Amino acid sequence: MDVVDRVTRSRMMSGIRGKDTKPELAVRRFLHAHGYRFRLHRRDLPGKQDIVLPRLKVCIFVHGCFWHRHTGCKYAVLPKTRVDFWTEKLESNADRDRKVMQELGSNGWCVFTVWECELKNPEEALCTLLERLKTLE
Ligand SMILES: [Zn+2]
Repeated sequence: MDVVDRVTRSRMMSGIRGKDTKPELAVRRFLHAHGYRFRLHRRDLPGKQDIVLPRLKVCIFVHGCFWHRHTGCKYAVLPKTRVDFWTEKLESNADRDRKVMQELGSNGWCVFTVWECELKNPEEALCTLLERLKTLE
């Protein structure tokens, strides 16, 4: 059974793509409030990072669970129709993500992924992120 109802699904699909989606903004606002200065994207690095902390050499990706195939996540359930199409499309997204993270890692960057579902409980997700950043200071 699809745990995500149709309305939620269409909201997830329409809202996640593109720049300055709400989850990204929430993470940016939080980091800014904690004194972190960052850039949104570095063209000289692989992938489209959502947040780059040059001083700490950290890239943060804020990923929509559906588009980026969050493993085991209820929001990453495939649609019931056009299964082949979605499987291929979403798997290629996930492949690209893995490649980007590998490349960043081999260039000495630390990569953190914040999943959209984690931001449903923002305080916990953002505190975890903050703790991880502090270990790099
Ligand atoms: Zn998720």
